[in-house]
Order: sequence, then C-alpha cells, then structure tokens
Amino acid sequence: MATKNMSSEGSIKRKKLQKIGVFTSGGDSPGMNAAIRAVTRAALANKLKVVGIRRGYQGMIEGDFINLKSSDVSGILQLGGTMLKTARSAEFRTAEGREKAFQQLKKADIDAVVVIGGDGSFTGALVMSQEYDISFVGIPGTIDNDMYGTDYTIGYDTALNTVVEAVDKIKDTARSHGRIFFVEVMGREAGLLALTSGIACGAEVILIPEAKGDFNSLKKFLDKGYRNKETSGIVMVAEGDEAGGALKIAEDVRKSHPDLDVRVSILGHIQRGGSPTAKDRVNATKMGVAAIEALLDDQKSIMIGLDNEKIVHVPFNKAVKLNHTIDTNLLDIQKLLNI
Ligand code: ATP
Repeated sequence: MATKNMSSEGSIKRKKLQKIGVFTSGGDSPGMNAAIRAVTRAALANKLKVVGIRRGYQGMIEGDFINLKSSDVSGILQLGGTMLKTARSAEFRTAEGREKAFQQLKKADIDAVVVIGGDGSFTGALVMSQEYDISFVGIPGTIDNDMYGTDYTIGYDTALNTVVEAVDKIKDTARSHGRIFFVEVMGREAGLLALTSGIACGAEVILIPEAKGDFNSLKKFLDKGYRNKETSGIVMVAEGDEAGGALKIAEDVRKSHPDLDVRVSILGHIQRGGSPTAKDRVNATKMGVAAIEALLDDQKSIMIGLDNEKIVHVPFNKAVKLNHTIDTNLLDIQKLLNI
C-alpha cells in the first residue's frame, strides 16, 4: 500500500530523526517502566526529543502526549505497571482511528515511535506503518513470553517469581490439610508461565494449551493418589488449557473423585504487578537502548529480541505471525520426576 506522505516524485522523503514517541500498549507487565526509562534516556543522550504517549493507541488518537525529560523517568526503574498507562483501543483498529493517530503524531512532529507491548500492539504498528510513513520499533512486553523470535519478553521473569512465591504458600496449606489445589495461571494461548512455575514448584500435574490431551496425567495422578493415600498436591492450569479453566476442571474432579478435598486458587492480576526482578530490569534496559539504536539506524517495523542474551531484530510480520514454541522437554522432565 502506498504511504500517504510521499513527495511529489512518489519516493519517501525522510527527514532526519529528531523526535520520537514512546508508549505502552495491551496488557501491562513489570519492567515496562524500566524500558520507558531506557528508551527516554538513550534518545536524549542521542540529542533526540522524547514524547510519552499515554494510554496506548487510544492516547495516540486523542493526542494525550507529554514531553519527557531525563528527570521525568527517574525513580521508575523499580516500579511495576507503566507510568504512561496502557489501554486497548477498538478505534485504532479502524482506518479512521489510525488516520487520527497519524495526524496527532504529525502535529507533534514525532518521526518515529517505540511501542512496548505484545503481538496485538505490534500488529497495530505494522498496519499503521504500511499506511503512513511512520517508523515503529517494538519492545516485547508481556508476562506470557510467547513472542516468536525472542527468548524473553519483559515481565515474564517477575510474573514467574510471583507465581512461584504464591504457589509455595499454597503448598504449605495444601499439605497441612491434605488438599488438592488447582492453581490457575495467566496464559490464554501460552502455557509457558504455568509450565515453568509448575517445574519450579514441583507441581504434580501441569495442564497447558500446547500439550493437548494431558488430562491423562491428571487422571493418573488422581488415581495414584487414591491408591497411595496421597491426598495433597498442586495442579497448575494455564487459563487457556483446552480442558477449561481451573474452576471447571476442579468441578469435574469433585464429581469423579468425591472423597478428595479439592480447592481452586486463581492467581489473577497479582501476576501482572510488583517490582520487576533484576533480570526484567536489565533486559528492559538493554532492549530500550537497542530500540533507539535501531531507529537511529533507520530500522522500521522490527521487534527488538534477545537470542542467547544477544540483541536481535525480528521483523514485525514474523514476530506476530509465527508461533513461539515451548520447550516440551520440560513437560517430560516434570512427568519423569513425578513418580
Ligand atoms: P497482550 O499480549 O498483553 O494481550 P497485546 O499487545 O497483544 O498485549 P492487544 O489487546 O492484542 O494487546 O493489542 C493492543 C492494541 O493494539 C489493541 O487494543 C488495538 O488498538 C491494537 N491492535 C491490535 N491488533 C490490531 C490490528 N489488527 N489492527 C490495528 N490495531 C490493532
């Protein structure tokens, strides 16, 4: 599709990069603030002006912009959430919405934008960059760690540690009372958080959307428990597992095994909050600086990723269309150890 601000000869006339925008979009994740800080300071260090776009694409449409100085991002590195707030915008999915957003960027003289979010946010950026001459570079921020092309997304490590801490506590009470806990972890289409936290907590069963038919392992565990009179345990359930959420699975188990004391704990939004771990802070910082370097290098429509600790550039169209595969070896390990 032709870009809408071409010169009269039809070729794109690029002006030198002078002002960038930065925003967070989609679900928030711990470490987004660290990324905003790194983007802002790396840009300022390179003599670029920086504008914070509040409330994701909706704020872009409404021109909800703030100029960012170095002092505006001090004291946020260790804070969860996002100082720029985040949102989901139905209006941005429409051509009219994106036209409004582009006009707002133009009015503010913003030449390029760093988007911190998940695959939906990058899809929006890709669509807009195909319609208008505006460069986007993405930083993956989601607790699911489900983006293709990067080993790591910002927020995953903090969420993982939050889940582990919570499940350790649940285990104490599960053992004391002889109860089976079904613990539901976030991850609509991605079970990595449930898988790794399950390994870290020694869960008896892990149910994730990537491993269909794993219901058998639950049945085996329950039957074995009956035989051995082991009546406590942890079943980690990713919210997107095909067997249904933890509530539905627990309900079925209550019917099939009425003697067991079955409880459910849905961890919910505590997984999104909290002070980011050192790992999330360091990676957010590395990715934030890399995003500015990429823009200065005239890159566009790429996501900054980490591959074996090294920064890589992943085209948006690959990052959003290809699936992140999970290490199913971890599931095999979990089964091997649960004898
Ligand atoms: P999370 O992984 O936490 O869900 P995300 O970035 O995938 O984060 P989404 O809600 O999927 O979150 O997307 C964020 C926003 O990106 C949407 O509210 C919408 O404004 C924009 N967006 C997503 N998909 C498209 C699309 N196909 N066209 C235009 N805009 C889109």
